[in-house]
Amino acid sequence: EIAVRGLRKSFGANEVLRGIDLEIGRGEVVCVIGPSGSGKSTLLRCVNLLEEPTAGRVFVGGTELTDPDVDIDAVRRRIGMVFQQFNLFPHLTVTENLTLPQRRVLGRNKTTAAQVAAENLRRVGLAEKADAYPASLSGGQQQRVAIARALAMGPEVMLFDEPTSALDPELVGDVLAVMRKLADEGMTMMVVTHEMTFAREVADRVVFMDGGVIVEDGAPERVIGDPRHERTRHFLSRLL
Ligand code: ATP
Ligand code: MG
Repeated sequence: EIAVRGLRKSFGANEVLRGIDLEIGRGEVVCVIGPSGSGKSTLLRCVNLLEEPTAGRVFVGGTELTDPDVDIDAVRRRIGMVFQQFNLFPHLTVTENLTLPQRRVLGRNKTTAAQVAAENLRRVGLAEKADAYPASLSGGQQQRVAIARALAMGPEVMLFDEPTSALDPELVGDVLAVMRKLADEGMTMMVVTHEMTFAREVADRVVFMDGGVIVEDGAPERVIGDPRHERTRHFLSRLL
């Protein structure tokens, strides 16, 4: 579903991604781990072309995003993204936060958009917050709204960049539970996270990045439980 070939990205003289090759099959959940500055966010942002790769190719659902002739807005609609910061519109209700992008980007009518919003709020367990404003919600609830907003667009793949890092510890579990359910439903997911329990229990594969390259890529029990590389061991030992 997602394929990355020979991906490189430089910011000026700083080469942040130094040749990334990665495939994520349909319905697969891949967690990306690695130290700060290793290029995890940049990789994720290259997968939906929020950053333009310096070299290499990116495919999503068989479409090459890095093809200069591609309609990037059309492809981006197929990719949902959830960030550490929820980026909800503070002056809109929860429902309005979900209907606005559906109407603006997908051209859905009001009724359909509201229906899809309600469905997806149920999916993340927040049906009763439909008319609330973001400021009245906990961080965990806001992040679940952000997930519902992405899902309402009907994406084929979901990208998560440290979705629980900004949350108080007691709110992390609810968000991870929603992501776990999504994984069980067969969503293709690429998740940058420091939540090793989630990675162990939910991911099909764990990718360890360091210095802009993939150092290890394998089953969670292998990469986390029995890392081959010293750099992976060192990273994990500081986490646990
Ligand atoms: P963290 O765990 O702290 O989120 P990360 O693995 O996500 O780290 P990136 O955010 O991808 O790392 O950053 C990798 C490198 O790229 C860093 O050295 C960062 O300073 C640099 N970088 C990222 N975005 C930009 C940008 N827009 N302009 C210049 N340099 C950037
Ligand atoms: Mg990052």
